[in-house]
Amino acid sequence: MSNGLRNTFWTPASLFLWALISCSIACPGQAGRNGGVDDDDVADDDDDENCASDEVEDCNGNCAPAKWLNDDFCDNGSPDSEWEGYNVDFNCAEHNFDEGDCEETGDDDDDIDPCNPPASLLNCDAPGPLIGGSGWENPAISTDVTQCDPDLIWAAAPVSRTLPPGVVSAYVGYSGGTSSESVFGYLANDSGPLATSSTNEFAQSDGGGVFDDHVAGVVMPMTPATDPLPGCIVVWPLTLSPSESGEVLFTVRPAGETDDLIHINVGLVAESGATPSNMEESLSDAANLLYEGTNEGVDLLGAWSFYTISESAFSYIAAEGSDINALRRTRMGEDDRTINLFVIGAFDESILGIAGGIPGPLGHQGTASSGTVVAVEPHLDGNGDIDSVYMAQTIVHEVGHYLGLYHTTESGGSSWDPLPDTPQCTADPTTPSACADGDNFMFWTGGPDDEQSTFSAEQSNVFVSSPIVQ
Ligand SMILES: [Zn+2]
Repeated sequence: MSNGLRNTFWTPASLFLWALISCSIACPGQAGRNGGVDDDDVADDDDDENCASDEVEDCNGNCAPAKWLNDDFCDNGSPDSEWEGYNVDFNCAEHNFDEGDCEETGDDDDDIDPCNPPASLLNCDAPGPLIGGSGWENPAISTDVTQCDPDLIWAAAPVSRTLPPGVVSAYVGYSGGTSSESVFGYLANDSGPLATSSTNEFAQSDGGGVFDDHVAGVVMPMTPATDPLPGCIVVWPLTLSPSESGEVLFTVRPAGETDDLIHINVGLVAESGATPSNMEESLSDAANLLYEGTNEGVDLLGAWSFYTISESAFSYIAAEGSDINALRRTRMGEDDRTINLFVIGAFDESILGIAGGIPGPLGHQGTASSGTVVAVEPHLDGNGDIDSVYMAQTIVHEVGHYLGLYHTTESGGSSWDPLPDTPQCTADPTTPSACADGDNFMFWTGGPDDEQSTFSAEQSNVFVSSPIVQ
C-alpha cells in the first residue's frame, strides 16, 4: 500500500484546453452590474422609500441603480440583474421597459435558444454584471438545461459576467447537477474563445475533455499565460447526460492585501482512525513543508478547523461514484473561501488521496467535487501511527491539484504539466528518485521514504494567487 497512486484524476484534453488559452490581448474595461451576492444582504420592503440619491425604485418597488436604466442591458428581474439581494426589474411600462433596453416584451433570457445561442452573446458583446468590484465574490448562477440532440448534449443558456481591472485571480466553473459529464461548450473573454466544444472534444466517445467529477472548471492564472483579464467572461454550459438544473460558478479575488492563508476544513470521518490529535501534526507538517518548499516562503495552509463526519459508511469508499460525491457535497462551516479536506479510512484501491478536480470548484462548497479526500491507512507506519510527513506530502499534493496543479510527470512518463519551469522526468517514472522532478510535491507517485517537498516558482504562484487565499 505504500506506493499507491496519489490521484488518478487527469485528462489530457483538459491540458490541451489550457494550452490553447492566450491572454496576450488587452481587453477594454466594461461597464456592468455589481451583483450583490451576499445572501444575507437583503433589505425589507420598508426601505423602498429610502433609495439612495443615485437609485430609483424598480417595477417591484425595490431600490435599484438609476444608471442601469437605458444602459443597453435588459434588467428583467433575472439573477443577471441582482443588486443588494434583489433581482432588479425595469421591464414594465412604468420604466418604459428599461427605457428600451428590454424592447417590447423584453425578457432576453426567454429569447435565447440554449442550443444555438446568439454569436453576440458568445462574443461578449453584451457583458454581464460586474463581479469582484467591491470585494471577494463567489456568485453561483442557476441554469436549466435543454436537450439539443436526442443522443448527445443538453445545454443551458450562456452566462456572462464582467471582471473588474486588477483581478488577482478568478475561477469559472459549471456544476451540472447530477450529470457526471459537465463541460464548457464555450468559454470566452473579450480577446476571444478560451475553449470551445470542439477544442474541448466534449463529444468524443472516449470522454476526452469531459471533466468526470461533475464540475468543469478553470482557474486564472493556471499558467503564466492565463492571467485573468478585466472585462467580459462568458460560459456556455453543456452536459452529456440529462441533468437537473446546474449552476455556473464564479469566484473573483480582486486586488488587495491578504493574510496569505488558505483555510482548510478538515472533516474527520467516523471510524477512519483520524482524530484531531493525530491529524494536527500532519497539518502542521504540511504547513511547514509548504512554507519551506515554495519560493515565496508564504505561510499558506496555516489555518484549519476540524469537523466530524458522523456517517461511518464514508470511511471506506470507492475513489469515484455516489459515495465520494455525497461525501464531497458535505458542507463544513459557512465559509466558502476554504478547501475541504475529508479524511477517510481507505479507498477500495491503492490510493493515498484524490482531489475533486484540477482545479476543484474554488470558492464553492456543496458540489459533488467540492473537496479533497485523503486516506489514513496507506499513511500508517509500522507502529500503526500516521506518518505525519508522508500524510503532509499527500495533503499538499491534493490541495495542489485542487488549486490547479497537474502532475509534473504523469505515470506513463510521456505527459507533463503545462508550467514552463517544472522539471520533467526522462528516466523511469515509477522511480521518483531517478527523476528530476521526483522531489516535487506534484510528482505522480510517492512512498513514505520519498521526500517530496519542493515547488517551482510557477507552481508557488498558483498557490499564492489562488482565489481562495484570504
Ligand atoms: Zn496527483
